[in-house]
Amino acid sequence: AGIQNGRIHMKRYITAEESPQAIQAVLQRPSQRSSDQIMGIARPIIDAVKTRGDAALLEYTHKFEKATTLTSPVLRSPFPPSLMQLAPETIRAIDISFDNIRKFHAAQKEERPLVVETMPGVVCSRFSRPIERVGLYVPGGTAVLPSTALMLGVPAMVAGCKKIVIASPPRSDGSVTPEIVYVAQKVGAESIVLAGGAQAIAALAYGTESVSKVDKILGPGNQFVTAAKMLVSNDTSAGVSIDMPAGPSEVLVIADASANPAFVASDLLSQAEHGVDSQVILIAVDLTQSQLTAIEDELHAQAIALPRVDIVRGAIEHSVTLVVRDITEAMRLSNLYAPEHLILQVHDAESVVALVENAGSVFVGQWTPESVGDYSAGVNHSLPTYGYAKQYSGVNLGSYIKHITSSNLTKEGLGNVGDAVMQLAKIEELEAHRRAVSLRLGVA
Ligand code: NAD
Repeated sequence: AGIQNGRIHMKRYITAEESPQAIQAVLQRPSQRSSDQIMGIARPIIDAVKTRGDAALLEYTHKFEKATTLTSPVLRSPFPPSLMQLAPETIRAIDISFDNIRKFHAAQKEERPLVVETMPGVVCSRFSRPIERVGLYVPGGTAVLPSTALMLGVPAMVAGCKKIVIASPPRSDGSVTPEIVYVAQKVGAESIVLAGGAQAIAALAYGTESVSKVDKILGPGNQFVTAAKMLVSNDTSAGVSIDMPAGPSEVLVIADASANPAFVASDLLSQAEHGVDSQVILIAVDLTQSQLTAIEDELHAQAIALPRVDIVRGAIEHSVTLVVRDITEAMRLSNLYAPEHLILQVHDAESVVALVENAGSVFVGQWTPESVGDYSAGVNHSLPTYGYAKQYSGVNLGSYIKHITSSNLTKEGLGNVGDAVMQLAKIEELEAHRRAVSLRLGVA
């Protein structure tokens, strides 16, 4: 796979000619560096920040980001306008995306508490409250990722989190990209922590002299970031939770004869350019040889014209085309793979959505490239990768909220449910539990 005589090409399998085991093996994610090894690097960094605070945080920023002139690891709001000087078209693009993401996440709010009378006089309710303090990790020292700041920050703002702390590795001159400062100001962030990697995660989890401790950390990052998130969330003394395990980005495109080969290739490439560890899968439903060749020709032609062609080559190395008989088989394989992004470029794509069991986010029909969801449509782009779409949701309003339940009984209600309570307490031999009811009801 990858390069045939310089041609950028995805290895092709016809599922009818392979064993199910072989197809399952093809759908494996590229292997990651041993997590033990990464944990071993992250652990001492976390310990250093936990014990030495700002001093350790700055040392790591000087080392990893080469930002040796940085003297304070935190930028506090109100952020000076001089740090968010942007072209009008950039402001417009961020503002449009901000509004759409805000609208979609605001619609996820529960209008009123859930109230159910399970028996006469026995009222159960559920209501929600925002997580008070959240830490949002925006990766990349060299990359500019205002979209990640938007996807993490806007739902935090909509949920009503009281303290929003954004952490991002600074550039080597010690500055933060103005796009991130602009988004931080729009979402009402309290501060920006100028640090990356395991040290930033540790600072958010434990707090330092200048970094505010948070209750939950969200956001993607490299393997050091992911390892650190797992380590701090397992430390009960930190009292912090995380969004979900993160791995390299991936897309699965299902295309049939109705698909436009150029569109299909562009979607595969927009994922492949993320990183050499990205994975892209094409499932071709009943395509002829010439239709397959048309997609492959487009893939090569578009790829070599991309500035990030070398990254694309790396990603395409472990990417494949599976040729299947029908849409049912395509969806069975897609649900097995559980892609972060699923693109449906098939006839009557809307009806195929009913067959989706496992996926982070679905892009329906030929006019819906993944890019719109990555930036501006309104859906979140922080999604479960590496097959975790089988059990995790992407970031959504619920990621920033706790649900609290309450029960409220009348005397009559306790009379109605009391026998069941006393009986179960007796079986569990918890006499004080039983008496809390019997005493109120004046029974033995
Ligand atoms: P990053 O911010 O995740 O990591 C940078 C930090 O890594 C540095 O600050 C440093 O602390 C740490 N680090 C680097 N080498 C180290 C070493 N040898 N030992 C200890 N720590 C070290 O930025 P990145 O590395 O550019 O990675 C970005 C990641 O985020 C990629 O995996 C990419 O796939 C992912 N990503 C996700 C999204 C998204 O889903 N929104 C967007 C962009 C990128």
